[in-house]
Amino acid sequence: MKLAIECMNETDKEKRISMFFNKFEWALDLAAKQLDERFQFQKTASKKQFPLLMNGLWLGSDKLKDDDTIESVINQGTLSIGFIGLAECLIALVGKHHGESQEAQDLGLRIITFMKEKINGFSEKYQHNYSLLATPAEGLSGKFTKRDRKKFGILPGITDKDYYTNSSHVPVYYHCTPEHKAKIEGPYHALEGAGHIFYVEIDGDATHNPEAIMKIVDLMDKYNIGYGSVNHNRNRCLDCGYEDATENLTVCPHCHGNNIDTLQRITGYLVGTTNRWNSGKLAELKDRVVHK
Ligand SMILES: [Zn+2]
Repeated sequence: MKLAIECMNETDKEKRISMFFNKFEWALDLAAKQLDERFQFQKTASKKQFPLLMNGLWLGSDKLKDDDTIESVINQGTLSIGFIGLAECLIALVGKHHGESQEAQDLGLRIITFMKEKINGFSEKYQHNYSLLATPAEGLSGKFTKRDRKKFGILPGITDKDYYTNSSHVPVYYHCTPEHKAKIEGPYHALEGAGHIFYVEIDGDATHNPEAIMKIVDLMDKYNIGYGSVNHNRNRCLDCGYEDATENLTVCPHCHGNNIDTLQRITGYLVGTTNRWNSGKLAELKDRVVHK
């Protein structure tokens, strides 16, 4: 993201985009080198240092002798390079994100395809399994934005909120149908081999509306979504066990207690209480809109 902001002073669009690709290539080369350097250190460890992991949990580790290094075994693992904030990157480069402009979507796919090709090249060059991760970056999402705002100021659509958008997602505040979201985000999944997620926010009580869920599952099939989920909130009274899907429920309608536990999806997984979310992710949650 920061790389795209650094290009914003260039007024010529083509030059701005090519400047971004140059910076992006530099950053990818650096990430691959760093991962290789870490591997070069890790591979010097011997089997006996990992009595649990290297006793059959890693494929082939049971064939190693105690003083053998773990190199051959850990090189079967993957080294992932991830990214967040494609939406903000596109706003910086062409003024719009990929949910609202075909030009931005074309550029977004060009950027992530470029990343994928670079990563395939790293696998050849270093002989490791490099992979491309669509990361939610729960921690970095807030940290990067704060840092960039301090350095570059408040940029509309980019650093004017407390988080960067998860990987190649359409921004959470953007109103669109589930189908539009699936159509835009689907093509990225084929490139993001180390992991990705698609989600749709729905309102109301999903437990009584299986058709709504089935329609979303059909969209996932249609647009080649690798992994998807449906987000809906769920409240549970910790005192009496009452459950519902009312928004911002603070008082239990059954026992009038205020010990309400709200279940929400932070990224890939469900979190029982939002009390422990960091400020970046809480700000994102507040901005989320229902897709309909
Ligand atoms: Zn209750």
